[in-house]
Amino acid sequence: MAVYQDSSYLIRCDHFDFNVKRAPGTSASVSGIYRCIGCGQEIVVKKGQLLPEYEEHIHGFELGPPRWQLIVFIL
Ligand SMILES: [Zn+2]
Repeated sequence: MAVYQDSSYLIRCDHFDFNVKRAPGTSASVSGIYRCIGCGQEIVVKKGQLLPEYEEHIHGFELGPPRWQLIVFIL
């Protein structure tokens, strides 16, 4: 879970990118923190970089295939 000290550095936003579930190997549309909706692991990815491929992020089979959701967007 992303944690912060000073809320003045964050802005609440309902941008559509927060609702997209991205497959492994997908190019990040924005820089930010992405969370695996299966296991909860969070990673930082820059705009244009690829989210981890299936072989780069492995979690329990029972958690389903990895999908990445943007949780913090960096302007
Ligand atoms: Zn995972």
